Amino acid sequence: MNILIINAGSSSLKYQLMDPETGVVSAKGLCERIGIDGRLNHKVGENKVVKDIPMPTHSEAIAATLEILQDAEHGVIKSVAEIDAVGHRVLHGGMEFFDSCIINDEVIKAIEKCIPLGPLHNPANLMGIRACQAVMPTTPQVAVFDTAFHMTMPSKAYRYAIPTEYYENDSIRRYGFHGTSHKYVAKRTAELVGKKEFKMVNCHLGNGSSMSAVKDGKCQDTTMGLTPLAGVPMGTRSGDIDAAVVQFICNKYGMSVDECLNMLNKKSGMLAISGVSSDFRDLEDGAKNGNEACALAREKFCYEVAKYVGAYAAALNGIDVLTFTAGVGENDCNVRAKVCEYLGFMGVKIDPELNSKRGKEMLISTPDSKVQVWVVPTNEELMIAQDTAELVNAAK
Ligand code: AMP
Repeated sequence: MNILIINAGSSSLKYQLMDPETGVVSAKGLCERIGIDGRLNHKVGENKVVKDIPMPTHSEAIAATLEILQDAEHGVIKSVAEIDAVGHRVLHGGMEFFDSCIINDEVIKAIEKCIPLGPLHNPANLMGIRACQAVMPTTPQVAVFDTAFHMTMPSKAYRYAIPTEYYENDSIRRYGFHGTSHKYVAKRTAELVGKKEFKMVNCHLGNGSSMSAVKDGKCQDTTMGLTPLAGVPMGTRSGDIDAAVVQFICNKYGMSVDECLNMLNKKSGMLAISGVSSDFRDLEDGAKNGNEACALAREKFCYEVAKYVGAYAAALNGIDVLTFTAGVGENDCNVRAKVCEYLGFMGVKIDPELNSKRGKEMLISTPDSKVQVWVVPTNEELMIAQDTAELVNAAK
């Protein structure tokens, strides 16, 4: 089976053609500068090709993608009919979507209804969907939501302690993000530990970071909120702060709320504390060279991650498994070591030798650790492909 995975942004569109059973990617690429001029970056194995192609809208980007996928020189399929279905990454499913679903007019309307919750991403995701529908009208399309995995949270986890009218009238609540990654890691971890019923905390630590408390494969709580700004501090996002900080800064510096939120999303987190970079590798280099601000940024990050593991261990009444994933979680053994050091009180023990490796699926805890600690490289695209294939096969 061939699933085309589409992740449409406002001026870009990423694609992958994947076999959902093997996870093998036959081709992938990026259309960028959509609406400006247009450039296609296409990759088959190690062969890369870059082409300037006019892309006034997402439709031309999809058309260019389908063309290069069938190209005699750079293509991997003979006709569009070889694409069995398209899986679209959609940011916000609001309270409308609890799972991935086959796209029809009703689904499009519901995604539109969620635009106020995802004002930057949902319109772009819809452009990707409409463009695909236009150029491949008979190919089934599936929407996979970043929020859906978290919809199993109980109300005590998702409700904010603010007047009920904002929840009832405006759907303001915790949603959580990176759901496709959390779902993939929860599913893969169940295979690795060989059981379905267990309690775990997954740490998706990358440029954007979020954590989830998962019981028997179902999300019970997560760190991000109405938007991805909440939770642990991230590359450039502040993570949790007292909401009154916004009022204070706006009043004192004559900033608008939008400007202040832009600062909290783009100029805060590791970048702000270190004053150097949002990239954990730069922070590590800085810390090694005696830059105290870089060391503090890393320390703050590990501290907040460990704090949430502690909180979620309480929420779940203990945990059996702790998982690390995404850029930092998969690669930064010092972050993992520091987080686990904080969790020693819970009987978390890792093997320094095992932990020193990176980017691989591996158990890094010692046999006598009370909690199994795993590194599970995430694969959101595979999860999208699998959800898409499952829905399309079930509908046959
Ligand atoms: P992501 O958002 O999941 O792509 O993760 C990006 C983050 O992962 C950046 O902060 C990188 O510094 C970090 N990262 C990637 N590779 C490594 C590595 N080998 N060691 C430490 N951090 C890494």
